[in-house]
Parts: sequence; structure tokens; C-alpha cells
Amino acid sequence: MPASYLSPKTRIARSPIHGRGLFASKAVRKGEIVAIKGGHVLDRRTLQRIRRRIAESYLQIDDEFYIGAVTGREVRRNKMFINHSCEPNVGIRGQITFVTLRGIKAGEELTYDWAMEENSPTVTACRCGARRCRKTLTGQDWRIPRLRRRYRGYFSAYIQAKIDPR
Ligand SMILES: [Zn+2]
Repeated sequence: MPASYLSPKTRIARSPIHGRGLFASKAVRKGEIVAIKGGHVLDRRTLQRIRRRIAESYLQIDDEFYIGAVTGREVRRNKMFINHSCEPNVGIRGQITFVTLRGIKAGEELTYDWAMEENSPTVTACRCGARRCRKTLTGQDWRIPRLRRRYRGYFSAYIQAKIDPR
């Protein structure tokens, strides 16, 4: 069963943002790993075919590729429960490793910004509740200059490579 890794300093609980979320159960220092996404590597066509079964449990890892569960049964141990926030406290190192952007207190919800990993034509309303909430999220938000500055070094590697071509 392709599970994701969740740090023992985290726990899943009901979230004020959306459904269930991932929370710090103990204090976490800046730069610590809180989760690593596991799963099957899926191309876009496969994702479209199975998307309804696996809901929002996958992670984009390149322009045409995703990682995650392929069956509803796998979702439970594969989903990381890290909700989106427009003022996140977690970023991405590489493509699948989630690290804290700052020190986190016990009880805080862990969140990242979809702009860090998504390159797609989608548009979604956001009700994350953050003071700086963008209200509308698009799969092209990684292009927004202030986000590029704010999340520098914390975008998924394939997005960071578009921003800083080698
Ligand atoms: Zn928001």
C-alpha cells in the first residue's frame, strides 16, 4: 500500500479551513520535514481517468505527472491532509518533501500554497481565511511575482526550474 510519510510530530484533526487537516502535535523547528508524499506516478491521462476515485489526494510533480493513490482504498494512507492556505507555514523541497517555513507551535495547522506545486488551467475559489487570501486560486499562480519572491526556494523543483531556468 503506497503510503505517504507523516512526521510523528503531526496529527490529523478537523480543520477550520477544510475537512480534516494536518496539525503539529508538538513544536516543529523551521526547516523540519513534516510530510513526504508517496504513491504511484501517474501521467495526466491516468489521473483524469481515476480522479473521481481519489479526490484531492494527488500531488503534481511535473507538467504532465502526478503522484498519489490510484484506488479509494489507498487514499486513506496516502493523503497528507495538508490544506492550502494563502499564508502557508510549509513549503516544498524537491517535489515530494514538505518542510516548515518557520517554527511551528504545537496545535498549529500545517498548510502550504498550491501555487508551490500546481501548473494547470484550473480555477478554484479559496476560503482559507488568511488575511492575504487571494479568493481565487488558479493553476498559474506560480507566475505571480510577489509569490515567486515569497516562496523562492520552496516551489516544487519543476516549478522552480521554470522560474530560474538552468
Ligand atoms: Zn486563500
